[in-house]
Amino acid sequence: MPEDSTKLNEAVPFLPFALPDIGEEEIAAVVECLRSGWVTTGPKTRQFEQEFGAYLGAGVEAIAVNSATAGLHLALEALGIGPGDEVIVPTLTFTATAEVVRYLGAQPVFVDTDAATLNLDLAAVEAAIGPRTRAIMPVHYAGLACEMDGILELAKIYGLKVIEDAAHAFPTRYKGKLVGTLDSDVTVFSFYANKTMTTGEGGMIVTRNAAVARRVRLMRIHGISQDAFQRYTARTPAWFYEVVAAGFKYNLTDLAAAMGIAQLSKMARFLTRRQCLAAEYNTALRDLPLRLPALPVGDSTHAWHLYVVRLRDDAPIERDALIARLSERGIGTSVHFIPLHRQPIWRDSCQLRPEQFPAAEAAYQTMLSLPLYTKMSDADQQRTIANLRELLL
Ligand SMILES: *Cc1c(COP(=O)(O)O)cnc(C)c1O
Repeated sequence: MPEDSTKLNEAVPFLPFALPDIGEEEIAAVVECLRSGWVTTGPKTRQFEQEFGAYLGAGVEAIAVNSATAGLHLALEALGIGPGDEVIVPTLTFTATAEVVRYLGAQPVFVDTDAATLNLDLAAVEAAIGPRTRAIMPVHYAGLACEMDGILELAKIYGLKVIEDAAHAFPTRYKGKLVGTLDSDVTVFSFYANKTMTTGEGGMIVTRNAAVARRVRLMRIHGISQDAFQRYTARTPAWFYEVVAAGFKYNLTDLAAAMGIAQLSKMARFLTRRQCLAAEYNTALRDLPLRLPALPVGDSTHAWHLYVVRLRDDAPIERDALIARLSERGIGTSVHFIPLHRQPIWRDSCQLRPEQFPAAEAAYQTMLSLPLYTKMSDADQQRTIANLRELLL
């Protein structure tokens, strides 16, 4: 690191790109769980599932897992995705969206993004549908819902399953309805450390399909027909159990669920704070050579998990340099995402070239994600804005 930037870092505290918002309530809840003697999946997990399902409403069932990646894997498994099948995924996402398809011996088929919203491009989805296509996995990028009416319509016409990767979308409304209550087959949320709420690691599968719910409950815990807590609390001897499928070890701990219950009770404040920060960026960055994020229209809403800006052609600095200059000035940023067509595993095994994904490629070259999280102060944000103005005007 050059000497001058070290000095700068000492002068101003570094503003991380993201931080979880954990208060005394979460700490007390986890301590209580530790003292209770039951730390793995049990009453807290059940309570968390019930409260999460009630938050979404519309009669959904919520099944807790130890990551969204595990949840997406279980969802695809329950829907019968297997060898020879193809599943359509966006290229502009985290590798988890595609890797779960491979877990089942199926093939991810990557499609380009819509240049305006950075969500799945509907025309590209339709063009990618072939005789082996079985499912579409839309990702609600940054917290803005995909064009779900169009996706669900395509799914109906071609007889496809729809699994929403809603890792960024808690809570997001699409045309008034919360993501998780739409007419897809399954929706999966993430509680990873930097998401809109966290359990450290964790995820939630949401569905109204009772058969899918039953299957993911079974497969999340080794394919055992009765869960450990039911056996533990049974009044009659309950040592007997049956393994009816070769399942997985994907259950959430009560320690994590206790934290999740406390986080869920703060969602209204978390969302309002994220919306305020986004609104301030929208206003304060308007006159800079930036393309600001697409906004929700009508009665749709944005979860503002990420605030992604793109440098315009007339910007005086390139993306990599801007990230470096901001870092020297004590401001953390990130890039969401390095498109999967650029990652060696997907590029090489699926023979992908950047020219196949012009919109995602153009976005990738110019994008950065600004700090936006509930723990950052107005002063933190104003410092970010002032530095962007200096570097971009
Ligand atoms: C974070 C993320 C995931 C994975 O979530 P985990 O809970 O860490 O497994 C999946 N998809 C997207 C788009 C993500 O951002």
